Amino acid sequence: MSSVRSGFVGLVGAPNVGKSTLMNQILKQKISITCPKPQTTRNRILGIYNTSRCQMIFVDTPGIHRARDTFNKILVETALATLSDVDVVAFITDVTARSMDLDRFAVQCMEKLTTPVVLVLNKVDLLKDKATLLPLMQRYTAMRPFAAVVPVSALTGDGVMELVGELEKRLPEGPRYYPEDAVTDQPERFLVAEIVREKVFHLTEEEVPYATAVTVEAFREDPEKNLIRIEATIHVERDSQKGIVIGKGGARLKEIGRQAREDMERLLGCRVYLGLYVRVQKNWRQDRRVLGEFGYRLPQGT
Ligand code: GDP
Ligand code: MG
Repeated sequence: MSSVRSGFVGLVGAPNVGKSTLMNQILKQKISITCPKPQTTRNRILGIYNTSRCQMIFVDTPGIHRARDTFNKILVETALATLSDVDVVAFITDVTARSMDLDRFAVQCMEKLTTPVVLVLNKVDLLKDKATLLPLMQRYTAMRPFAAVVPVSALTGDGVMELVGELEKRLPEGPRYYPEDAVTDQPERFLVAEIVREKVFHLTEEEVPYATAVTVEAFREDPEKNLIRIEATIHVERDSQKGIVIGKGGARLKEIGRQAREDMERLLGCRVYLGLYVRVQKNWRQDRRVLGEFGYRLPQGT
């Protein structure tokens, strides 16, 4: 087996530090998908970077920076849960920022985190005097240890490939979570599956989401009725999980379906008929054939 690294990268950064610009710069060469989805999920996928050697799935970390204003402990905990699930965190800072308060707060939030954190010093193109970079770097490294420190300009692309290299090093070896091509060929199908998975994440207990895969069996447009008929299956590993996903009297599945359908209608711009099914497939995570069928693999050991 040729060694491919694949895994999740959590993005942390205050507003305006350049997260979106950085995503665009990284995904420019190999754009797979960026999701225009509402910020509801724990693992909102921002983009997937594919090369022959690796697959890097960038996920958002809502919460850490918002929490400061709202003092919402749950948001911080959700953010931390996201960051504990990813393989490496990219902590993005703006070297021209006047205040480090938000960054300090983010570092505090990440205090107990064991996931490696790569510090990204962005907007170095704006530094008139490069000598100011070193003391700045020291101020950050005094806050906590970082797996690596990478100065970049998300705008010009300077240093961005070095950053990708540092992140790649910290991904485990293993097959791609998402097929390299299917993602680009079928963005709608992919997004639709992601939306369902997102709702399952959101509406079920801790243990269920990691045992979940979603496949889309049917995606048929019905122009006469301005309707798209979608049939999707939620795959779980155990009967008990099936029970959780379905809920009392089918209430939870109904809610998953309702929320997913609303998001899909917003995404696709037309009415959606959504048929949702739940199927138990024992140990699908260990079974490569099944994984291939699903098109992706999910984090293990969590
Ligand atoms: P986000 O809120 O973290 O997603 O930040 P954005 O990516 O939207 O960037 C905020 C602003 O900073 C935009 O005006 C970007 O053009 C600018 N910006 C981002 N990265 C850089 C950079 O490396 N250099 C410069 N000069 N501007 C940048
Ligand atoms: Mg942004």
